[in-house]
Order: sequence, then C-alpha cells, then structure tokens
Amino acid sequence: MTEQFTELLNQYRDAFHTQIPRYRQNRYAQIVVLRETKSHAIFTTEGRTLDVERLQAGNTNTTAIDRVVMYKRKQVAPERRTGKALLRDLGILKEVEALSKDKGGKPKKPIGEGEDLNKDKGGKSKKTIRMDCQIMGGSCGMCPDCILYGYAATTGTGSQKARVLTDSGFVVRSEPQVMRDIKLNAIQDTIAGGIAGSAFSGRENLLPQVFIPTVETLLDVTAAEFTYVLGNILKTTRYGAESNREGFIRNHVLAIYFSDVELFSNLELTQYFYDGLTEASGNGQPHDYLSLEDFINAWPKVEQKALAPVFGRRRKVENLAGLLGGVRSLFENETALRSLLEALDRETLRYVRETKSKDKDKAGEGNEAEGEE
Ligand SMILES: [Zn+2]
Repeated sequence: MTEQFTELLNQYRDAFHTQIPRYRQNRYAQIVVLRETKSHAIFTTEGRTLDVERLQAGNTNTTAIDRVVMYKRKQVAPERRTGKALLRDLGILKEVEALSKDKGGKPKKPIGEGEDLNKDKGGKSKKTIRMDCQIMGGSCGMCPDCILYGYAATTGTGSQKARVLTDSGFVVRSEPQVMRDIKLNAIQDTIAGGIAGSAFSGRENLLPQVFIPTVETLLDVTAAEFTYVLGNILKTTRYGAESNREGFIRNHVLAIYFSDVELFSNLELTQYFYDGLTEASGNGQPHDYLSLEDFINAWPKVEQKALAPVFGRRRKVENLAGLLGGVRSLFENETALRSLLEALDRETLRYVRETKSKDKDKAGEGNEAEGEE
C-alpha cells in the first residue's frame, strides 16, 4: 500500500484484524454509500415493472409511499465481479493444490506458498479451480472473493458466511417521482430484455439522478480486505438489468465508521433523508428535482439522527477525503495494488489452509461445529 494510505489506516488498526479470525469478534466497518443513477436504470425481478415496496415515508412523516427497491444481490454481485476481474487481470488467482490430505492426515502440500502452481512439473497447465470460480453455483472456496463475500455449500467445498453484510436499498422519493415507463417501439429493442413478441411494449425505468442510500457492513476484516471492498464499491459503475447500455451508477461514500455494533440500516437512512429533504422543500414532500448537493447538505442531520439510538462503541473516519484519496492513488498504482492483492490472497490461503482443514478434522471426529449461529 502507499505510505500515506498505510499511515491513515494505521490510525484505525484496532478496527482491523491482522489475520482473518475463525470466530466472530464483532469488529464492524460500515461504509455509507449514496448510490446515484447517472442513466436510466432497471431494478426488476418480474421484467417489466420495477421492484417496489410500500413503506413509511419518513421517521417523522408517517404516511405510506411506494418505493423502488434495489435488492441486495443487485448491489453486491456487480461489485464482486469488479473485484474478481481485477484479481484475474493481475494474475493473482494462481492455482493451488486442493485441500486433499495424504493418509497420515497431513495436507499433501502446503498451499499457496510462492511457487507457480499453475504449471505442474512437466510444465502443463493444471485444472483451473480458482480462475473458474463463479459467484453463483461454482464457488472455489479458496479465493479472496469466496472468503470475504461468502459462498454457499456446493459439492465438496463447504461454505463460508459472508463478512460483507448488505441489505436491500430504497429510493428516497416515492415511485411516481423517480420512474418513467419507457415505450419500446420495435421488437428488436426488446430482445435482450426477454420481452420480445409485443411490438409496442413498455418498460419501467428509474430516472437518472435518483438516489439510494445504502450501507455496506464489513465484519471482522483485515485492512487489505477493507481496502479491497472499498475499491470494489468505488470502481463499480454498472448495476441492474440491461447494464451494458444503461444502469450507470456512481457510488458516493458519505461516511465510514468503525464500531462494535451495526449503526445504520438502509431503510432508516432513506427515511431520515426523506424527512430532511421534506423539511428543506417546505411543501410536504421532497422536491421533484434533487441533486447530489441536496443529499450532501442533508447528510449531517441524517447521520446524527441515525446514530442517536445506537448502543455501542464507535469511531468515525474524520479524514474521509484523505482516506478516499489514498484508495484512489493505490488503485492507480499497479505495483502498490499488486502487493495489496497478493497480501490479500496470501492471508486468504492461510485462512483456508488452517481453518478448513481443521474443520474437516472435526467433521471426521464427529465434533460439533463451534460456530455460534
Ligand atoms: Zn472463489
């Protein structure tokens, strides 16, 4: 990592782990992300209509409104893909020996210790496990993505709980204020969207310049993992359906907190913003036209209200601009970036080697798993 950035992170070193822990210690890092659409965007499970929930408008304003929802998977999956593409591009995901053991119960070979395991002794390429890791249904269980964002059990790979916790995000304003039904006038336009057949069909779109306050909560992570997730958030720009031609989103980091409890919920943030923006407009609901500045101006009060009911220890990153500047120069500098990602991968492999092989021993002896959940 670059010197200045390392120094900044060092101020918060007690918020991070030096090694990925086996058991929870509830060290939370919460990144408050205001997502802003920069083009039309589509968040739908049904295909034609946007996903909507009926919810209380604000905390003080208790009327019910319909809100467009950005489901958690639609937030995190693109960010995971950003990170994995980077790991592949820089050749970080070298192949390692599977966790099989010889008859003595020892791992056949320590994994991931420097040598290039992409090639066997004859120089031939080995089976690619980590390079082929898929978020859905083909997880390798041995890469930084699997160990940080979690993966479900597939045959023979065990599972890992996510340490990046997310939740559905909700648009601040009501659906009629942020949505347009865009008419498609040719069949060709609809083929990729899967609603071909009707020559004149429409599709609901979220408008550009619409805001979705969210928080990404990191649980018991190392400094390298924190930096990796933050980089994924800041580098990802495409979300939702049709994301090859719309769905451009800019993620603005409003705040970062380290704590021993979860401080923010997405819906609460949305409702506090609704109250603040309603107050600013003075006409019973937020203005139809809102810019990033309106949200930034409303944030200090939202933050204050959101933190008021919290029980627990917390620390705010005071020099947020400095921290984000550090992340920016790190991700611009290939040498520094490579060393960060290699460190991330080394620690991942250490964790996999030590934890997963112990878990296998335990399963063999019929012990209960110690996980508390
Ligand atoms: Zn993986």
